Amino acid sequence: MSPNAPLKAHRMTHGNNTRMPLPSDNTGEGLRLSPNNKTTPSNYMTDNTSPIRGRIHSIESFGTVDGPGIRFLAFMQGCPMRCLFCHNPDTWDTKAPAKYEWTAGQLLEETLRYRNFIKTGGVTCTGGEPLMQARFVCEYFRLCHAEGIHTALDTSGIIFNDEVLHLLEVTDLVLLDIKTVDDGLHRRLTSCPRTNTHRMMEHLQKTGKPVWIRHVVTPGINDDDPHLLGTAEYISHYSVVERVDILPYHVMGEYKYDSLEIPYPLKGTPPLSPEKKQYAVGLFRGMLSCKVV
Ligand code: SF4
Repeated sequence: MSPNAPLKAHRMTHGNNTRMPLPSDNTGEGLRLSPNNKTTPSNYMTDNTSPIRGRIHSIESFGTVDGPGIRFLAFMQGCPMRCLFCHNPDTWDTKAPAKYEWTAGQLLEETLRYRNFIKTGGVTCTGGEPLMQARFVCEYFRLCHAEGIHTALDTSGIIFNDEVLHLLEVTDLVLLDIKTVDDGLHRRLTSCPRTNTHRMMEHLQKTGKPVWIRHVVTPGINDDDPHLLGTAEYISHYSVVERVDILPYHVMGEYKYDSLEIPYPLKGTPPLSPEKKQYAVGLFRGMLSCKVV
C-alpha cells in the first residue's frame, strides 16, 4: 500500500489522502467497522469449495480516495516492508490477531451489503500489503467480477510471483506506490530493494493494465528537485499510468508507534507544507501528460 497513507488508523492506505465523512460519522472518519460492530456474514455459496481465509485488519464501507467512485475497502493484515514514513505499523505483523478471518465468499457477502453505494465505484484491497495474501485477494476479486464489481489493488508491488500474476488478471486498476526510484534510498526507506516494484510496473505496461501512481514526498528525504524529477521521468515511460497522486508526508500516525512501543523513525521531520506539495505537483505536471493531483 502507499506509504504515508491517508491516516487509515483511522484508515490504512499507503497514500496520504483525505476522505468524505458520512453524515452519521461525527469523527470525520467515515463509517469504519470495528470488532465491536463487525458483522458475521452468512456463508456465500463458494465457501464449501474454498478453505482460504483472508486475514483482514479492518474494512471500510465508504472509501472515496482509493480508486474511482465510492468503494468498499479491505485492509489486509501483514506487510514485509518497513517504510520509515509508514503510518500503519499496526498492519505490519503477519501473525498479529486479525480482526476478521473470513473466506472470500464471506468478504463478498459483506461487500454486497453496500452494493448500492459502490455501484459507481467498486472494491479496493489495500493494507498492509495485499500481495502477501494474493491467493485470497484473487479469489475475492473473482467473486466481485462475477457480481460485476470493479476491483482495485493498492500495493507497493513488493512481491512478484505467479500468484501475484493471477491476481493481476482479475484486477481492474492498480494503485502502485512508488516510494523512490533511487535504489539505495529505497532500501534505506523501506528495508527492501525496489526490484519487484519495477518488475510490477513493467508487467503492468506490458499487459496494458490501468495504473494510478502514489508517491509520498517527505521533507529532507525525497523532496528535492533531483528526486522529484527522477521519479517523474521514470513514470513518464509508462503510458498505462492514468494519474499520479502526490501524497504529502504527515505525522498523524506517530501515536501508533508510541502505543506499539516502536521508536518513530522520522521523529522531528516536519509534515510537507502545502506550498511544497504544490511545487512537486507542478514539477510532475511539467513532465507528465496524465492527471497529477
Ligand atoms: S510499511 Fe507497508 S503498510 Fe507501511 S507504508 Fe510501507 S508498504 Fe505501506
